[in-house]
Amino acid sequence: MAPVILVTNDDGIHARGLAVLAEALEPLGEVYVVAPDREQSAVGHALTLHRPLRVDRVAERKFSVNGTPSDCVNLAVLGLLPEPPVLVASGINHGTNLGDDVTYSGTVSAAMEGTLLGVPSMAVSQAEPDTDGFDGAAPVARAVATRLLVEGLPAKTLLNVNVPRGEVKGIRLTRLGHRIYREKVIREVDPRGRPYYWIGAGPPEWAEDTGADIAAVHGGFASVTPLHLDLTHHGALGRMAEWEGALNAVLKSKRKRRR
Ligand code: MN
Repeated sequence: MAPVILVTNDDGIHARGLAVLAEALEPLGEVYVVAPDREQSAVGHALTLHRPLRVDRVAERKFSVNGTPSDCVNLAVLGLLPEPPVLVASGINHGTNLGDDVTYSGTVSAAMEGTLLGVPSMAVSQAEPDTDGFDGAAPVARAVATRLLVEGLPAKTLLNVNVPRGEVKGIRLTRLGHRIYREKVIREVDPRGRPYYWIGAGPPEWAEDTGADIAAVHGGFASVTPLHLDLTHHGALGRMAEWEGALNAVLKSKRKRRR
């Protein structure tokens, strides 16, 4: 039997990018689609723990879930699929997921969830498509998936793939870029006289870094960034060794005083 591949997204079961990704990976295995029943962009790594999840079978190997992208990956890997997948592919997101923005992304979080469950995973996003649709991202996704299936990935590592709009000049291995936070919160007053706020309204500004994903995509290249789920800063852990004694001393002295 062909290996099972799970495709999901955060734009919802009806998104064009989801269908394009499923079709692009069809030659590599038996593709199952398990995706949210509606748009779930920017939900990050949220899991639904306080209400029941419902699964709707919309085609033989296609399921919609009233939950988040991470819910979908959990349900699929731990129950819905006939066997554990060899790959979790999330996307193709309508819009890039670059640099510091990856932590908000439902698309990237789905791939993180796959990684946590021990399945090699990748997220694919494309700059908001115009007339070209997802013509650029489909062959890039297939190329990266093919290589990933042969080579595997280091432990706790996933791939974040971003594709520019229009013609793709090539593929670059990159690091995450960094956002410059200059934009202000927009404050307005509603018709009932109450203030409301709008965040993330302006266009993002990025630090200049030629090796970053943002530079690659702006230059017309697809970027492939390996991400690591071990968020521990091991260097800082070493450098902060004396904090332990100092913090415990403070704790002890407070306890003594209270007695
Ligand atoms: Mn999205």
